[in-house]
Amino acid sequence: MGCRHTFTCTDCSLTWKVSGSGEIDYGKFARRITLACASCLRVKDAAVDLLPQGMYLTTLVDLPRLPVCAVCGSDQVRVWKDGDPCPSCSGPVLRDPNSAFRWD
Ligand SMILES: [Zn+2]
Ligand SMILES: [Zn+2]
Repeated sequence: MGCRHTFTCTDCSLTWKVSGSGEIDYGKFARRITLACASCLRVKDAAVDLLPQGMYLTTLVDLPRLPVCAVCGSDQVRVWKDGDPCPSCSGPVLRDPNSAFRWD
């Protein structure tokens, strides 16, 4: 099932709630991947499309292309995971250990 955590940049105090696993996050009905956007400098979970034949993706390697940014629609995105720096200021990002939130 899908799980989100609260991440906070220790330098600029940006906060986001994402899975941050670095892999496709599986909910009961949805598949998501955490992306950092170079355009709007946000970190956000984006929905992963179905494969053409209606199969769900199983690993990131199967993903033909990343989804666009869920905030601004830009395709200037990369996978963001726990431990990666803040996309806005490159500062260190901390995960709140008490913030696990199941979204699905
Ligand atoms: Zn920052
Ligand atoms: Zn964006």
